[in-house]
Amino acid sequence: MSTTIKEIPFWESKSLEQMSRNEWESLCDGCAKCCLHKFIDDEDNDDDSELMPTTYIEEGEQMNYSNIACYLLNDKTCQCTQYDKRTTLVPDCVQLTQDNIDSVFFMPPSCTYRRLKEGRGIPSWHPLLHKGKKSAMHKAGMSVRGKIVKDNEVDLDFFEDYIVLWPLNDID
Ligand code: SF4
Ligand code: SF4
Repeated sequence: MSTTIKEIPFWESKSLEQMSRNEWESLCDGCAKCCLHKFIDDEDNDDDSELMPTTYIEEGEQMNYSNIACYLLNDKTCQCTQYDKRTTLVPDCVQLTQDNIDSVFFMPPSCTYRRLKEGRGIPSWHPLLHKGKKSAMHKAGMSVRGKIVKDNEVDLDFFEDYIVLWPLNDID
């Protein structure tokens, strides 16, 4: 009689810090929620600076998601059209690495890096559990597909019209 030993996947056997570059990169589900503009609601701000675009958050401030996405995002594939040049072309582009993982709170709750950092594991719809395919993620409504406008198509002065809650959704 033969027994099959089930291999433990790297995301369960290694910490985020222990992962190889390829393993780290493969964790990204490609949801593109991190390509959405976020705004900080700070009670101390005046009308002019309230809900301004930001790349950081301070204690007591609340982060709001909009459905306004970066102009470089392909809204069908949810992939960056300039991945190699993204941080040059879009200085605000958040590039999450093992060195800045403490900034992961800035990512949406469904972000795989945030889930693993918080000990919540990989969700059932993740491409890694579907042979690399993103269809389960799109079907579960966990990506931005079909829900966004581009930041070069809207007047950002009216950002409040674009504040949405769906980026905060998560499904195990
Ligand atoms: S939110 Fe996280 S998992 Fe989703 S695309 Fe961005 S980095 Fe990848
Ligand atoms: S540059 Fe690319 S990865 Fe960065 S926010 Fe824009 S679309 Fe997303």
